[in-house]
Amino acid sequence: MVRDHGFHPVRIKRIVQETADTRTYVLDAPFPYRAGQFVTVRACGTLRSYSMSSSPDTDAELMTTVKRVPGGLVSNWMHDHLEPGDVIETTTPAGVFCLRESGTPLVAFCGGSGVTPILSLTKSALATTSRRVRVLSADRDAGSIIFGSALAELSERHPDRFEIRHHLDDQGGFVAEAQVREFTGGDLDADFYLCGPAPFMDLVERALLAHGVDGAQIFAERFTPTTEASAPGGRTTNAEKDGTVSIVLAGKRRTVPQHPCETLLESARRAGLFPPFSCESGNCGTCIAHVTEGEAKMRVNNALDDDEVTEGWVLTCQGEPVSAHITVVYEN
Ligand SMILES: Cc1cc2nc3c(=O)[nH]c(=O)nc-3n(C[C@H](O)[C@H](O)[C@H](O)COP(=O)(O)OP(=O)(O)OC[C@H]3O[C@@H](n4cnc5c(N)ncnc54)[C@H](O)[C@@H]3O)c2cc1C
Repeated sequence: MVRDHGFHPVRIKRIVQETADTRTYVLDAPFPYRAGQFVTVRACGTLRSYSMSSSPDTDAELMTTVKRVPGGLVSNWMHDHLEPGDVIETTTPAGVFCLRESGTPLVAFCGGSGVTPILSLTKSALATTSRRVRVLSADRDAGSIIFGSALAELSERHPDRFEIRHHLDDQGGFVAEAQVREFTGGDLDADFYLCGPAPFMDLVERALLAHGVDGAQIFAERFTPTTEASAPGGRTTNAEKDGTVSIVLAGKRRTVPQHPCETLLESARRAGLFPPFSCESGNCGTCIAHVTEGEAKMRVNNALDDDEVTEGWVLTCQGEPVSAHITVVYEN
């Protein structure tokens, strides 16, 4: 399998104002994709990933939904500068936060803009399977609910198979573990999909595991890094160890000594290179590169499938060398 790493010009057909701080961008993009995937946008000299809110099974057009992040570079630029007819640069869709073949119920917990891939997954699951789907969607207040009417329509159309429950923080605080357990009820065999702010996802995951859910049934899409280890430079030390890391980017090859606990992305930066990256959590796949010599082990991999790993692809933000010498080639 060959990954398309390139960026493609994509015209914005329409923009839908969903809430005061959230917009949907309807894109003129003929990309095949799976429900739950995302595209990565190149803007403001950097890269950001945005999930599809549309479903390839029910929507004729591809849509991404972007919520303003206070102080955030790209989300605010998109809201303030983009208009219908403008052209943006995006990758083709990627990501593994997708439905798997299963007849078990699907139970989703989302918060804020995390509803974006959950809506896509819900539409596809209802359209292409006979699975029951239940979504607990948490928002600050009623005005912050994104896709309230789309979710209500799905519930009217599939009253026996779909339940949406809205949790509003202004009516009793954040979601508590007891509510997660209560919403899950006896559906311990379900597939669980989580997407939202990091503390929300951590709480839901903890509650599900304590409730007896098998961790292998929990699928999480993290929009932001969670651990110190996944932050830039999080666990790196300056001590050298035996071995080298060679990085090839845009025709330049640089070799540096290995440092303990350093990711390949961090080694590349230390070598004076500026490779592509976005989430730095192992989710978006923007930092993908090909290992052509040696071996790396990823701390987290929520973006590459087994075939891609076998073919030697690595998420450089998560990959650490496990061989004395390693060569990593960025393809774009
Ligand atoms: C796989 C994936 C899918 C995603 N899907 C979606 C989606 O569907 N919809 C969506 O809205 N988002 C989504 N995201 C999140 C999105 O990619 C961006 O992270 C988000 O829009 C914020 O980007 P930004 O450039 O606006 O903010 P950034 O500039 O990255 O800033 C983020 C935060 O850091 C703070 N900050 C920035 N600079 C500094 C500084 N120097 N010091 C201190 N604090 C600082 C900002 O105040 C802000 O709070 C997704 C992320 C991933 C990884």
